[in-house]
Amino acid sequence: MGTQTAINEYNVYESAEARFEIAARKLGLEEGLYKYLKYPNKEITVYIPVIMDDGRLEVFIGYRVQHSLVRGPCKGGIRYSPQVTLDEVRALASWMTWKCAVVNIPFGGAKGGIICDPEKLSAAELERITRRYTAELSEWLGPDRDVPAPDLGTDEQIMAWIMDTYSMHVRRTVTGVVTGKPVDLGGSRGRREATGRGLLIITNRALARLGMKISGCRVIIQGFGNVGATVARLMHESGYRVIGVSDIHGGLYNENGIDISALYDWVHGQKKLLVDFPGGERTTADEILFRPCDVLIPAAIENQITSANAHRVQCRILCEGANGPTTVLADDILDRKGIFVMPDILANAGGVTVSYFEWVQDRQGMFWRESVVNQRLQEVMEHSFDEVLQYAETHRVNNRIAAYMLAIDRVAKALRLRGIYA
Ligand code: NAD
Repeated sequence: MGTQTAINEYNVYESAEARFEIAARKLGLEEGLYKYLKYPNKEITVYIPVIMDDGRLEVFIGYRVQHSLVRGPCKGGIRYSPQVTLDEVRALASWMTWKCAVVNIPFGGAKGGIICDPEKLSAAELERITRRYTAELSEWLGPDRDVPAPDLGTDEQIMAWIMDTYSMHVRRTVTGVVTGKPVDLGGSRGRREATGRGLLIITNRALARLGMKISGCRVIIQGFGNVGATVARLMHESGYRVIGVSDIHGGLYNENGIDISALYDWVHGQKKLLVDFPGGERTTADEILFRPCDVLIPAAIENQITSANAHRVQCRILCEGANGPTTVLADDILDRKGIFVMPDILANAGGVTVSYFEWVQDRQGMFWRESVVNQRLQEVMEHSFDEVLQYAETHRVNNRIAAYMLAIDRVAKALRLRGIYA
């Protein structure tokens, strides 16, 4: 097994691998299983020809990485962004394997991405890109094979197009091929809020563990999209004081608390810029991460807390909404500062948990009330939190390594039982 030396912390795949190695070593994982679980099962690259609105023929590059099918069908979002790389998709795919195992749902891990800028594409172009990408991948997808979901730059409408394209190819309606669909098309109630709700549940549990109170608890959130805006809203409603938020255009700070309902309407209803909201002081998008607070929730993109800036973080609890917001070299610095870290593969697993509920409902053909979805989500998140903390105590490791150990142990057990097909 390798070591952490000479690691490029900004390469998310190397960061993910380094944590895997530490946890695998602590677990005493056999060399063979270590190799098996380290590498993805399959990596697919597709070149997507699309006629643009102006009549030009353009070719986009897309990926789907299936990391593991050991515990069930692959599961993982699809990202549309100019920054997509194969290494990023690989890292995100492996995180999905560990995330599904941490919350103990019967999926492996996958991730997809297309190198494109959705903000510069028309709805018709996005639809054509999505349909051709799905068509190219159709033999690898399916409710029992690989089930995508939304991620950065993709939404319910894109999931609906994927579902329709796949269904056309197999000549029947298959809602369970994708999750995060509109509720009118086999989506689950509560899915849209699930990642944010999961973050709230985990933060509540962490506060209780540390003997802290919700009332007046100061929260800063980076990112005001699906995850960030939802968790901001739910925390504000629960009595937390959200004192800072940011999006790609900049940040907003108000030590007395930001009126999140009004800000939500400002950004997502009235489509105005977050930084222009009158209820706070303007800051930069990054600066908000380093203001003093009780709970810091990075919910935007990777590599935000690094060896270069982790010493500036001033929170008691770091609850990771984004995937990979903290690099491997920042982990030790946060540990030394005594920050209680709720790692991404636990903290943001609410989304995939309700995606699992959606898949179950699609297959049952019977849909649950939102209160049932939320109750079941709460049970899964609280139980997973307790299991991760138990691992941390038993093995004397930090919460992140504990989550990896719990996950790797579960996947390795399933793999030993299945054996290796010749
Ligand atoms: P989104 O596209 O809806 O929102 C992203 C937000 O981050 C936007 O507000 C954007 O302006 C902001 N942002 C981007 N770059 C930034 C920067 N440099 N500084 C500050 N803000 C910046 O995406 P999302 O679905 O909310 O996903 C956010 C993160 O959460 C991603 O890492 C994603 O992988 C992860 N995640 C999402 C889900 C889900 O259910 N959507 C589930 C688990 C994890």
